[in-house]
Order: sequence, then structure tokens, then C-alpha cells
Amino acid sequence: MLRKNRLFTPGPTPLLPAAQSAMASSAMHHRTAEFRALFSRVLSDMKEFIGTTNDVLVLSSSGTGVMEGSVSNLTSPGDKVLVLTAGKFGERWRDLAKAFGCVVELVSADYGETFSLDEVRQKLTAEIRAVYVQATESSTGARHDIQSIAKLVRATGNQTMLVVDAITGLGTTDFDVDGWGIDIIIGGSQKALMIPPGLSYCAVSERAWNRMESAKCPRYYFDFRKERKAAAKGESSYTPATSLFAGLAAALEFIRQMGDGDLKAGRRALVNNAELAAEMTRAGAKSLGLKLFAESSPAAALTAIQSPTGVDSGAIVKEFRESFAAVVANGQGEMKGKLFRIAHLGYYDYLDTVGILAALEQVLATVTAKPINYGAAVRAAQEVYSQAAAKKQPVGARVAPLTGS
Ligand SMILES: *Cc1c(COP(=O)(O)O)cnc(C)c1O
Repeated sequence: MLRKNRLFTPGPTPLLPAAQSAMASSAMHHRTAEFRALFSRVLSDMKEFIGTTNDVLVLSSSGTGVMEGSVSNLTSPGDKVLVLTAGKFGERWRDLAKAFGCVVELVSADYGETFSLDEVRQKLTAEIRAVYVQATESSTGARHDIQSIAKLVRATGNQTMLVVDAITGLGTTDFDVDGWGIDIIIGGSQKALMIPPGLSYCAVSERAWNRMESAKCPRYYFDFRKERKAAAKGESSYTPATSLFAGLAAALEFIRQMGDGDLKAGRRALVNNAELAAEMTRAGAKSLGLKLFAESSPAAALTAIQSPTGVDSGAIVKEFRESFAAVVANGQGEMKGKLFRIAHLGYYDYLDTVGILAALEQVLATVTAKPINYGAAVRAAQEVYSQAAAKKQPVGARVAPLTGS
């Protein structure tokens, strides 16, 4: 059969057609009134998307750029920091903090698991200058309990900064950024925002802005204070990825439509959409006898599914691509070959979700050469969907269908 290319990876994700046309037709210079208006509108909408009154920065880099900035702007060499790690992205925090000369304390959990809050409490001594954690660990599909972690951090007072990599968390998880006291929350364009890679953003608390006055790690491109000053004038310090800003404005407009004109409601609809797609996918995978990799605390951003015994997940990834042109992600690092990951963040609908599960049935039949109960995964997903629809839960965006997708 004909095959359409489709991304099911936890970044990059499928592109919103309206954002694609906005990017294709944008030809702006960044030091013009026209771009300043766009830039300022995007920054103000991003506050609503993130759900904060804190100042937001949008920088031209992949997500790791702002992760690095969150270390270099908040710490001084020799500072003790606490990294919570349960996967490849947690390990990135550890390596970044070490690269800037921090003394790194760790709370670790096995891949696929989340942290013991008792252990976090024990390690949160008065000398810890900052805590670094993921909201959703994209390498394992696990969700971490940011609300409880924030409570522990704030109980220590105002000297410990809480930095959350929510690069796959924003748009798939609800956060009360200001209420919980998250000092820096980080996102990336190629995840739930439905545009290509190249922009990385964060919201920064007053407590964190104050810390930057005394933090001594070297920084230049990712100097958040310099960017804040420029942003107040509708500009960024260096040449921004102008076409991505045009795409981001269109994506935020789409999310606003999902909320009938209210961007906050649209963000909740986007989160609900991911939650429902994830629940359908988990039910579908289990109905085929597959085991989830992060069973106890699964994220809505993506679902990591263990490969059946004796099957390398690379064969599953390859079969998805070769037979259906669907790109799913293999495990990273030590998890390579053991699991595959299907994303739900951003521009996925019912048909994408049911379709990838139907394809999963075909893929398993081919790679395991065992009989498959065809329809089991699709049926399980449909049952989840029908129950959500009956409860009048929001079942996805009520925006007008788009042409050209
Ligand atoms: C995608 C992602 C990142 C950022 O990766 P980049 O390749 O630098 O954009 C960081 N953390 C998590 C949890 C991610 O999913």
C-alpha cells in the first residue's frame, strides 16, 4: 500500500499545517517593528501556555541550550546541586552540572521508575543551591511527581532553586508553576508546540533572577539577564530564528482555538488530548500482552513499550518504518533494543492513535512470526475512547479540521 511519512517520536513531532505555512511565508528582519510586535505577542502568549506570570524567554537553540543556561545562570563553581535522575535526560543534568564545576549530589531511580520522595527529602540539605529534575523522562516514558518535589524544595526556604526540564512535560502535564514555586521551567519547540526543532524556552521566577546576580559560572550566548533586558524591548540579543517565531505564533493561535478563544483552556485541551491518546495506547499495548516500561508512573507525553522476549526493539522500529513509514523511537543508551517509544505530545488525533495501534498489530505479527489477535489493540483503545466520550471528557480539539495535513 501507499505509505505516508508519520512521526511518532517524542521530538521532533508532527508539524501543524498552519504553522508550516506561516513559516514558509515569513520573511522578516528581526530589528523591525513588525518582528518586535510578533516577538512580544509570542512571549506574552507563552506565559499563558506555560501557565505563569513569570517572565518567559524564548531562545534559538535546541532544548539543551536552555538546560545549560539554567545551570550556568544559577550556579557558581563549587556549588552543591541535587540532580534527580532516572534516565538519559536526568543524566544530561548530571553531566551539565559537572561541566560547570558544580558538586553533584544524586537521587537516582532505575530506568522506568520514579524517585523515592523520602530520599529526595534526605538529600535536600541546606547547602543544596539548586535541584534539577525532568517532569517527564522521555527516555523511559516515566512521569515524575513535580508537585511533591516542589513542596519539599520550598519547605527548605528560598535558597534552593528548583529547575524543571518540562521539555516533553509542557503541553502534556498540568503544572501550577507559580503556586508550586518552580524557579525555571523549560520547554522546546519540537515537542508539544507542533513546530520544528530550533526554539527553546523557559519561565524564570524572581527568586531565580535574584540568584543570577551572584552566580559566577561563565555564560555568554545563554545569558538570561541580557535576554530579559532585550525581551522587554521586543527583541532578542542575537538573531532569532525568525521563521520559527512565525510558526510558534500560529501554533499558539491553534491552541487558543482548541480552548474556544482561551489559551489557558486550549492548553488544558492539549494536555487532555495527550492524556487520552496515552491511555488508549497503554490499553492497546497491554491487550497484545506487551509490558509497559514505566508501568507505575506513565507519562502522557509518550508511552515506552517493552519489546517481547527475544525480540530486539530495533526490529520493531525498522518494521514500522519499512511497512508503514511510521517513525517510532528505539530505546536510548542501555535501553536500546529493549523498548520502543510512541509519542502523544502535540498534533496527534484519534485516527493517528488508532492507526499506530493497528500498525503495531501488523508489526508484531511480522517480527514475532506468531499469531496475533488482530483488532485487540484497536478495540481496547476504542473502549478507552468511548468511556472518555461518555463521561463528556474533552475528547480532543474541537477546532475546524485543517486542509493540507
Ligand atoms: C527532547 C528533550 C530534551 C532536549 O533535547 P534537545 O535535543 O536539546 O532539544 C531535553 N529533555 C527532555 C526530557 C527531552 O524530551
